[in-house]
Amino acid sequence: MKCPVCQQAMVEKDFGGVKVDVCENGCKGIWFDWFELSKLDEQGEGLGEALREALNYPRENTENRGKIKCPKCGVPMHIHKYKSAKEVNVDECYSCAGFFLDSGELRSIRDSFMSEEEEKKYLDSLLADMPEYNQALADQEKERERAAALLNYTRFMRLSYFIKGK
Ligand SMILES: [Zn+2]
Ligand SMILES: [Zn+2]
Repeated sequence: MKCPVCQQAMVEKDFGGVKVDVCENGCKGIWFDWFELSKLDEQGEGLGEALREALNYPRENTENRGKIKCPKCGVPMHIHKYKSAKEVNVDECYSCAGFFLDSGELRSIRDSFMSEEEEKKYLDSLLADMPEYNQALADQEKERERAAALLNYTRFMRLSYFIKGK
């Protein structure tokens, strides 16, 4: 799969049982899949080296690079933008359930701890932010799956959650 930002071939990595694609030779962005994310267990077992490595990727993307197209299905991805102290923008494809995260975004989260309260707020804003073009989400089942995946995604962002107990 090619990186949606810089078009380099992405490398598949295993983040503790969750497969992600990392733009290792390019912008260091990370591609997640909802259904992969929903495999993250409560303990986040094994989420180790690959994640640590990803955390050290520098910010190489411009902050306002605009919309990107989904590397899987080619449709424009929806950008979730939030104004908060720990701003992290995420691009989400509502067609195939993928997320794209710029490398620097992960790093800025590592540098600033997200509390449980902040995590909840962030999750709520993600859940509330739905584009109207997405008809698939009218489907209750899909919406439920999305909510579960977003919860895992948000947990993933709260990195202390995984790093503690190591
Ligand atoms: Zn890239
Ligand atoms: Zn897609």
